[in-house]
Amino acid sequence: MANTSKKKYILVLDAGTTSVRAILYDHSGKVRSMAQKETLQFYPNPGWVEQDPQEMLSALLGVTMEALTRIKAKPGDLAAIGIANQRETTIVWNKETGEPVYNAIVWQCRRTSDMADELVKKGLTEPIRKKTGLRPDAYFSATKIKWILDNVEGAREEAEKGNLLFGTVDTWIVYNLTEGKAHITDYSNASRTMLFNINTLDWDDDIMGELNIPRSMMPEVKPSSEIYGYLEFTQISAGERIPIASVIGDQQASLFGQQCFGEGDAKITYGTGCFILMNTDERIVSSDNGLVTTIAWGLDGKVTYALEGSIFVAGAAIQWLRDSVHLIDDSFDSEYLATKSPDTGGCYVVPAFTGLGAPHWDQYARGTIVGITRGTTKSHIIRATLESIAYQVLDVTRAMKEDSGLDLTHIYVDGGASSNDFLMQFQSDMLRKKVRRPENVEATAMGAAYLAGLATGFWESIDEIKALKEEGGEFAPEMDIEYRDKLYKGWNKAVRYAFFWAKDEDE
Ligand code: ADP
Repeated sequence: MANTSKKKYILVLDAGTTSVRAILYDHSGKVRSMAQKETLQFYPNPGWVEQDPQEMLSALLGVTMEALTRIKAKPGDLAAIGIANQRETTIVWNKETGEPVYNAIVWQCRRTSDMADELVKKGLTEPIRKKTGLRPDAYFSATKIKWILDNVEGAREEAEKGNLLFGTVDTWIVYNLTEGKAHITDYSNASRTMLFNINTLDWDDDIMGELNIPRSMMPEVKPSSEIYGYLEFTQISAGERIPIASVIGDQQASLFGQQCFGEGDAKITYGTGCFILMNTDERIVSSDNGLVTTIAWGLDGKVTYALEGSIFVAGAAIQWLRDSVHLIDDSFDSEYLATKSPDTGGCYVVPAFTGLGAPHWDQYARGTIVGITRGTTKSHIIRATLESIAYQVLDVTRAMKEDSGLDLTHIYVDGGASSNDFLMQFQSDMLRKKVRRPENVEATAMGAAYLAGLATGFWESIDEIKALKEEGGEFAPEMDIEYRDKLYKGWNKAVRYAFFWAKDEDE
C-alpha cells in the first residue's frame, strides 16, 4: 500500500442525477470543503430523459477547482479520488475520438419499455433474474445500449468493428480523468446493467447476444476499492500522481457510508422516492416479492451482496402536499402540523400516484384517501401522508425478511425527509426497531471516500473507519404493540382500495 499519510484529503466526485458535487474529506472523515453545480436534463419526448456527458465532465472539473480553491488546497494534498454516481445511466462513445455518439440516457428514461416487455414475452424473465438479480425493465442499462446501437446512424456498424465503448457514469468519468487509459466499472455499477452475471461475476454472453450488444464495448469490472489509474488532467493534477481509487453506485455507496458492513444491516434513504438496501453478505438472495438482488461492493477480494427495494413516492408525497394541494408552505412544516393531532382520526393516505412498487407491484394502483369523517382536519391528512412513507418502508422490510430469512439488525437513515423527527419516531414504532440517524447524512459521498481511503492507505482498515463514525440521533420504538398492529392493519386495508384503480372496469 502506498504511504499517503502526508496527504490531507480524499476528493469525492459525486455525479448525481440533477447535480454534481466535489467534496474534500480529511483524515477524521470530516467534510472540509464542498462545491456543487446543477446539471441540465433534457426531455426530448414524453417519458424520455437525457443528459449531456460533456457537460457532466466540465461541471465536475468546475466543482473540483472550486472545492480546492475554497480551502486553498493543492493537488499535492490529495491522497486519492473516489467516485459515487447515479446508476444505470448509459453512455456510448467512440474509442478513437472519445466523443459520445448520443446523449447519456438517464435511468429514469422509459423509451425502451417495449424492448423490456419483449424480453418478458420471450419468457426471459426468470433466466435474466437468475443471472443478473434484476427483472427485465427499461430502468437498467441493457435496453438503453441497444436503443443507441439501433437508432444512432452508423452506431451498430462501429460497435461491431470494436470502435465504440459503453459505460455507466462512473466509467465515463474514470475514462476521461485517465485520458482513456482505464475503461472500467465496479461490481456495484455492473450489477445494474442487466448484462452482468452476479453469480459468475462476468458479462453474460447470452443476454448480450439477445440484445445484440458486442462484448468489446463492455468495461472491465473491478472491485469498488482499487487504484484504477491516475488523474491525467494536468489542469487539476499539476503533475502530481493522484490515484483514482474508488467507484461505487450511489445507493450502495450510502450503504457503505452508513457503515452497514454486517449481514442484516440496512439503510433507508428518504428522498423523492425511498431506497432501502440490506446487506446480505456473501449470500445472493433472490426475491419472491419483487425486490432486486444487487452487488453492494467488491472489497479486499470479496463481493458483498444486497437486497434492494424502492418506493416510488416518499418525499414526493410531501411535495404534493406543498405544491399541489397547498396544505403546507414548506416540507419542514409537515412535522409541526402533523403533530398538532395525536393520530390521523382513522384517515389513511396511500400515495400510489404512479402505481405501487415492492411488494405489491401494481402499476394500475392510484392514490387514495380513506377513512375521512366530518372530523378530519388538515393536520390529520398531513400526518397520514407522513405515516404512509413509514408504512411503505415497513411493507418493503417485511418482504426483505421473508425473502432472506434475515431480520434487519442495524437500521440507518438518510435523505431529506429523514430530518423529520415525527416520521423517524413513527418509522421506529412501525418497524419495532431502533432507527439511527447519523450526524453526517451525506452517506453517499462518505461511502466513496471510505473506499478510496482504504485503497490507498489513507485509512488502514475497516476498524479505523468504524472509529470515525459520529453517532447521531436514535429513535427507539415506544408505541404499544397492539396499537401498532391495529394501525398497520388499517394501512393494509387502505392499500387494497388503491389497487387496480386505473384499470378499466371491464378489463
Ligand atoms: P432527492 O435526492 O431525491 O432530490 P432529498 O434527499 O434532497 O431528495 O430530499 C428531498 C425530499 O425530502 C423532498 O421530496 C421533500 O419533500 C422531502 N423533505 C425534506 N424535508 C422534509 C421534512 N422535514 N419532512 C418531510 N419531508 C421532507
